[in-house]
Amino acid sequence: MAQSEQVDVLVLGSGEAGKYLAWHMAHAGQRTAVVERQWVGGSCPNINCLPSKNEIWSAKVADLVRHAAAFGTVTGPGSVDMARVRQRKRDMVEGLIAMHLERYQASGAELIMGTGRFVAPKTLEVRLNDGGTRRLAGDRVFLNVGTHATIPEIPGLAAAQPLTHIEALELDRLPSHLIVLGGGYVSLEFAQAYRRFGSRVTVVEHGPQLAGREDPDVADAILQMFKADGIDVVLAAETLRVQGRSGARVSLLVRTPHGEQTFDGSDLLVAAGRTPNTTGIGLDVAGVQVDARGYITVNDRLETTAPEVWAMGECAGSAQFTHVSFDDFRIIRDNLAGGHRTTRDRLIPFCLFTDPPLARVGLNERDARRRGVEVRVATLPMSAVLRTRTTAETQGFMKALVDAQSDRILGFTMLGPEAGEVMAVVQTAMLAGLPYTALRDAILTHPTMAEGLGSLFTNVPAKAT
Ligand SMILES: Cc1cc2nc3c(=O)[nH]c(=O)nc-3n(C[C@H](O)[C@H](O)[C@H](O)COP(=O)(O)OP(=O)(O)OC[C@H]3O[C@@H](n4cnc5c(N)ncnc54)[C@H](O)[C@@H]3O)c2cc1C
Repeated sequence: MAQSEQVDVLVLGSGEAGKYLAWHMAHAGQRTAVVERQWVGGSCPNINCLPSKNEIWSAKVADLVRHAAAFGTVTGPGSVDMARVRQRKRDMVEGLIAMHLERYQASGAELIMGTGRFVAPKTLEVRLNDGGTRRLAGDRVFLNVGTHATIPEIPGLAAAQPLTHIEALELDRLPSHLIVLGGGYVSLEFAQAYRRFGSRVTVVEHGPQLAGREDPDVADAILQMFKADGIDVVLAAETLRVQGRSGARVSLLVRTPHGEQTFDGSDLLVAAGRTPNTTGIGLDVAGVQVDARGYITVNDRLETTAPEVWAMGECAGSAQFTHVSFDDFRIIRDNLAGGHRTTRDRLIPFCLFTDPPLARVGLNERDARRRGVEVRVATLPMSAVLRTRTTAETQGFMKALVDAQSDRILGFTMLGPEAGEVMAVVQTAMLAGLPYTALRDAILTHPTMAEGLGSLFTNVPAKAT
């Protein structure tokens, strides 16, 4: 058996948590090796968050140009060049990769490009991308292997070679009719962007509403927004069979409450959930257990079932956001330095980058009901926030949940312009434990989107006596 190279810190997968941990440990003088099969810097800068937001921004520009006359700018007939959209995204990604390589170099962590799998506890065999293998053993091992798009087991679906977000972000042509399977976050962002680029778009969602985890009023507002954009949405739709091939001609046989229907399109994008990258990497050999869905079993300190082996980010079942993977890194970093941080009770915000975006932090009404938490609910239409009158972005609303007994803010949802930025104000108040009255009574700048928080919190009903 080949001799293993021994390192202090061995990281498998260079996602958000993995790369920060590697840089941190290497800076601290630990001999650190990171094994990454494809994406320098992980999914976020290469294929997920940043490239999708880059192309979504191009779609926003297309939409603004299309509506330029309403703002007094006269343009000729516009058209979208998808090759240039893609090139702009590629240029950004290239810059981000260069930035990551510099960070690796500056930190002293060795980045090994290849596919790793365990051959013994805390020991990886790496099939190098350039050929050959290396065997590495780490005193401490950190797993950050992420997830990939799930392709549901629907007859004909895999054979239709559907797009996932990865291929969709690499298109240099505009699909004439894009069918999107799934009605969650990835689906909604791509559906709207492609509609704005000029495709006909149909969203086919299995559940009774879009954005299944959100309150029905939020989902309905998104649905209305999509309808206004000319996007077709089919809800409560079970896809029975797929025929044809994405990129040529594809058709979906779907069962809905109104009977069976067939949808024909040119391209099919699957955005129907995520599957952890934990199969076939020898976790059993390493003594690392996974749950029934393949996510690595961790405790609230992100320790796996194997001693001196940690898991971070999506593969560990953490909420599927870059900022959460980053926080996983901070928890492990601090605990290795003697701290006592856990993943319990984290206040996790998120943003869906549709236009207008949806942002939420804390509970929504659905969560509150499920947990038996009594709340007071205040809402405010975005049309009541005067800033939206200046930009003609009056769609959507804000919603706040305040504890029924105390004045504690328990949750905030906003579907409206700058939602992610406005949410950060409420999140800060929640972290500081401020009563809602602090935001209600604050002097907020006019006319900003955040000014609406004053009116929103004025609408909180009085406590029941
Ligand atoms: C389309 C899309 C858009 C998104 N947009 C947002 C957003 O706007 N904001 C947000 O917060 N989150 C967003 N997310 C989620 C976000 O990208 C992830 O939560 C985030 O990147 C954290 O991932 P991670 O750290 O768990 O792992 P990843 O970044 O996925 O890293 C895992 C790495 O492990 C490597 N790997 C896997 N197996 C092996 C192996 N055997 N050997 C070697 N290497 C291996 C992979 O190549 C990959 O680079 C989006 C996701 C998608 C799909």
